[in-house]
Amino acid sequence: MQLQHLLGIEPLHPHSITAILDLADYYADQNRTGVRKSEALAGCTQINMFFENSTRTQASFEIAGKRLGADVMNMAMQASSIKKGETLIDTALTLNAMHPDLLVVRHPHSGAVDLLAQKVNCAVLNAGDGRHEHPTQALLDALTIRRSKGRLHRLNIAICGDIAHSRVARSNLILLSKMENRIRLVGPATLIPAGIDAFGAEVFHDMEEGLKDVDVVMMLRLQRERMDGGFIPSEREYYHRYGLNAAKLSHAKPDAIVMHPGPMNRGVEIDGEIADDLNRSVIQEQVEMGVAVRMAAMDILMRNRRQAATEAQA
Ligand code: ASP
Repeated sequence: MQLQHLLGIEPLHPHSITAILDLADYYADQNRTGVRKSEALAGCTQINMFFENSTRTQASFEIAGKRLGADVMNMAMQASSIKKGETLIDTALTLNAMHPDLLVVRHPHSGAVDLLAQKVNCAVLNAGDGRHEHPTQALLDALTIRRSKGRLHRLNIAICGDIAHSRVARSNLILLSKMENRIRLVGPATLIPAGIDAFGAEVFHDMEEGLKDVDVVMMLRLQRERMDGGFIPSEREYYHRYGLNAAKLSHAKPDAIVMHPGPMNRGVEIDGEIADDLNRSVIQEQVEMGVAVRMAAMDILMRNRRQAATEAQA
């Protein structure tokens, strides 16, 4: 596999997805043992640049890099020269001149991370760009599903809520369709983009119908930071129709799992008791798999970089 960057799920071949998940599976098991340190990224410099808030993604990229022995630096973007008017590209070129090996970037604009990857000569990982892609989230969701269902194909998967503004929905839809699952998108018409069924998903506006006999229920937050107007009548009304509670979940298969990428808004898109029910909810496992998937992705990108450098010297 000759991946140079991880910018999205769209360009990935199913074999590449499986290779990342297989290595992540290994790291997930290793992370559960007392011995968590490896030297796979020893001598590498990893810079995390987050232009948008993050809890799980930033922390897990940092932990992942440190477990693999990298020198990890978190840029405080609020305090950076971006605030003084420097463009994203100039900031990236400045950092590039310090010879990092890995740049992990989150940015509010769709496409900004791809653009940046064209300007630097290190590996770039997209940690979420606007409503475009969040590849490591989709990969960690896939690993969580594969570990709890024993497979990642021929599953009925419902992605519910604010599909229109969610990069998580988009990356998951692409990944899970590539792996030959049946995807349903469930939510109000105002939050489902027109033409999305071209991706091969079925659209539902009613939770009971949408969740009928599914194996996986993936809930999403209302992405208010990307809404420019009123998309729902009120949160109370939204919870009533689309919030996941025991009654709605009872329409899914009895062993269906409940997922959420976080941050969760309890009482808006999900009932707190469902989120905490360890028999159904795999939300904490998603966080755990996040570290393993990010270890695997950075490990693979660094191996490819080293191999490319060796070939260039030969
Ligand atoms: N944490 C995810 C993201 O960055 C989901 C969310 O924010 O709702 O896209």
